[in-house]
Amino acid sequence: MSLTKDQIDRYSRHILLSEVGAGGQEKIIAGRVLLIGAGGLASPAAYYLAAAGVGTIGLIDDDVVSISNLQRQILHFTNDIDRPKVVSAREKLAAINPSCRLVTFQERLTASNVMEIIKDFDVVVDCTDNFETRFLANDACVQAKKPFFHGAVLKFFGQAMTILPGEGPCYRCVFNSPPPPAKVRTSAQVGIIGVLPGTIGTIQATEVLKYFLGIGDLLVGKMLSYNALTMDFSKIEISKNPDCPACGHPGDHS
Ligand SMILES: [Zn+2]
Repeated sequence: MSLTKDQIDRYSRHILLSEVGAGGQEKIIAGRVLLIGAGGLASPAAYYLAAAGVGTIGLIDDDVVSISNLQRQILHFTNDIDRPKVVSAREKLAAINPSCRLVTFQERLTASNVMEIIKDFDVVVDCTDNFETRFLANDACVQAKKPFFHGAVLKFFGQAMTILPGEGPCYRCVFNSPPPPAKVRTSAQVGIIGVLPGTIGTIQATEVLKYFLGIGDLLVGKMLSYNALTMDFSKIEISKNPDCPACGHPGDHS
């Protein structure tokens, strides 16, 4: 594959970077990324990945746009209220980069469709807002050996971690199982500062690009925590749990 004149112009600021170059841009263009969710985290992640030239972007979300989404889910505009999020998102991404192939699934990710949906993508980005889907996606990615880029946000706090199955810990190594529903606080209950998913979703997109390019240090085995009130970023070392129900091998150790 070689870049066209248009691609050389469009991606010139990437190509100038010695860490990227034309070869790196070709890797980005060959990349296939699935975003689970088309809301707050997916907004910056999808915008930047499409702009960067990722060749195939998949989006799965069964929700429609509501007025309370607009404070942070910048893929969606006021005239998108009541429209499916994947339809709204698709239009914005196509306008940014018409050469990006967009694949949308207007449905919920479930145990019965997850393997079929992720199989045609190289990597999966966690842009979901609920634990059930996040654990399901983590387990499926571990099983299918797909890199999984975790991100989560609430109130003024965010976190991100990159999961490379076989190389580092998975999400379930950190949090063994979903918390009881009564203990879960959602942004609909406790709120969220609108810019927060912008920060974390952009970090997830950065990790995806670095993964495709094979450059830098990924957040593998490290949970990045962000406090927007104090502007503290901290990295917590995470070890693989040998008894992890998703990636551990119970019985292999003594
Ligand atoms: Zn694990």
